[in-house]
This record gives sequence, C-alpha cells and structure tokens, in this order.
Amino acid sequence: MSSIKDVNRGTIQTVLGPISPDQLGPTLLHEHILCDIRPPSWKALEQIGAHVTLENRHAIDYGEVLAPGNYLLDSVELAITEVKRLQEVGGTAIVELSCGGLNPNPSGLKAVSQATGVHIVMGCGHYVEEYQPAANGARGVDDFAQEMIAQVRDGAWGTDIRAGLIGEIGCQAPWTPQEKRIMKGAAIAQQATGAALSVHPGRDADQPQEIADFLRNEGADLTRTIISHIDRTIFDDDRLFRLADMGVVIELDLFGMESSYYKLNEAIDMPNDASRLTVLRKLIDRGHLTQIAISQDICQRTRLSSLGGHGYGHIFRNILPMMRRRGFSDIEIDMIMVGTPRRLLTLG
Ligand SMILES: [Zn+2]
Repeated sequence: MSSIKDVNRGTIQTVLGPISPDQLGPTLLHEHILCDIRPPSWKALEQIGAHVTLENRHAIDYGEVLAPGNYLLDSVELAITEVKRLQEVGGTAIVELSCGGLNPNPSGLKAVSQATGVHIVMGCGHYVEEYQPAANGARGVDDFAQEMIAQVRDGAWGTDIRAGLIGEIGCQAPWTPQEKRIMKGAAIAQQATGAALSVHPGRDADQPQEIADFLRNEGADLTRTIISHIDRTIFDDDRLFRLADMGVVIELDLFGMESSYYKLNEAIDMPNDASRLTVLRKLIDRGHLTQIAISQDICQRTRLSSLGGHGYGHIFRNILPMMRRRGFSDIEIDMIMVGTPRRLLTLG
C-alpha cells in the first residue's frame, strides 16, 4: 500500500484545504451542488425540466412528465446563489457527494466555496454501477482502493482538490459484484485515510443491514460509516434498531420531499418531514443520539429555491424550528447539526 503520510489527520479537508474541526459549524451531510444524476437511459432524451416553469413544476415533481433536465445541476452561478441562501439562515458547511458517475466537478465546487465562504467537503469513489463507465467492470478491489486513497491524499478527478470523505458509494438491490468490489476498496481506503464512509444503499429494506454486515467483515469502522437514504429504505423498527445497534450513522436525508410519490420506487409510501422527526425521536429515545444525520440530498432543479423549491436552507428555516416545537433539545439539535458532522469529517 502506498504511503499515507500526507493525509491531514485531525483536520477537516474541504475543497479549499484543511480547516480545524471547530471551524466547521452546522453542516448538511448529504447534498449535491453540481451533478448530473440523469439516469443513463434518459441522457439521450431531450432535457425537459432544464427550464422549470410554474406550469410544469408540479407535473415534474409528481412524475407526470419525464424530465431528464431536472436532474442536471450544472450552473456554478446558480449554485452560488443557492448556497448563499443556506448561509443566510445559518448553514456553514455542506458535504457534496457527487462522486464517480455523477459528473463530479471539484473546480466548480471550489469556485462555489470561494464565492460564498461556505465550507464544502467533497466525496469520492463511485456511485451505483448503472452510472459507472464500462471500464470499471475490469477493475479490481485494490485498484479502486488506491484510487480512493489518492483522491483523499492527493486530489480527485484530475485536480489537486482533495476529497474529505469517501462516498456516496453506490449499491443497487440486488447488490452487483462490481459494486461489492468498490465497497471492499472503500473499506480499505477508510482504514488507510481515516476518512468517513457514506453509503448509498439500494431501494430494498434489507440492504442497509447487508451492507453493514459486509463492512464489518471487511474491518471498516462502522462508527464512521453513514448509511444514507434510510427514509426511503427502512419503514419498520426491527430493521431500524438492528441497523442502529451495529453502530453506524443512520441518515435521514430526504428532508423537504413531502410528496408521497417517489419516482424511483413507486411501491413505497414516502414519509414527510414530520414523520421523519418521529423516526429521529425514536432513535434518540433508544440511545442513538450520536448516530443520527439529517440532510436534503438536493439533486433536482425543482428543489432549488430559485425554481420554487425548498432550497439548501430548508432544514435551518423550517425543520430546526419544528424540532424545537416538538421538544427536541438544543443539545440534541447541536449534536445532529454540529457534533456528529464534526466527528465524522475530522480525518481520524
Ligand atoms: Zn446523494
């Protein structure tokens, strides 16, 4: 394994360089600022949705209109406007998880951070196989591991801009052999760099547990592993508590999505923000306060405030006040928004 002497242990590694952990502040742990998350089979279609209007916005969000352009965040200028709106309401840091397959843009993120003063911590590795280049099919575990280590240590995607965590590492259900090789590589890279690992599970209620079991076997640090998108994946206490007992961080990161309709899995009843808070309360009451993350996973134009959506500031404007009204204490809110992100993002 190559030398890891240059990893900035004890710091948080942003796209503008390392900062001290106490500089981070309230953080969104799972967002996209610049990405192309159009399903590959949609990329050839006309980019309907790139121009969201009052007339089409609801139809796009409710799946009446197939709108590939809605899944394309490609304007640095618009991103700066949107991230400034987060800053105005108290957000100081964003974890940006547009990794391989999602058209990562480190230079664009650097420009957004420079223009706004908001800390951006960038992920690395690869999203689900469906989005990956064909060449990944021939690559082995160590090749993927070395790539992720280098992305944290030296810079990512042809730049000297370093990733500050690993992920979101994509899994589909059923989990593919190629995705498992990447996850094994991610476990190696996590141990080599001390970076946290963020996982995107497939849309199957048993897959978060399958991934957590797999990572434990691979020697990953589960206390520094975030299982994303739990609010569209697990709907029962047995699975939720069993997963929490593994020590992983449970992330509810679709705050702001209030529609029961979920294009990517029409079989599930999507929760709303109030029911997400009910899940958080259950986890806290069971002793899992330090294992909770919340975010919005913005990756569509209709969710940007400039286009009539809730924007990156939604959790700060609406959810934190709702939490206070519902009896969440300042200590609990501070742990979720500041303490846990600081712990996870500090290279260990
Ligand atoms: Zn994401």
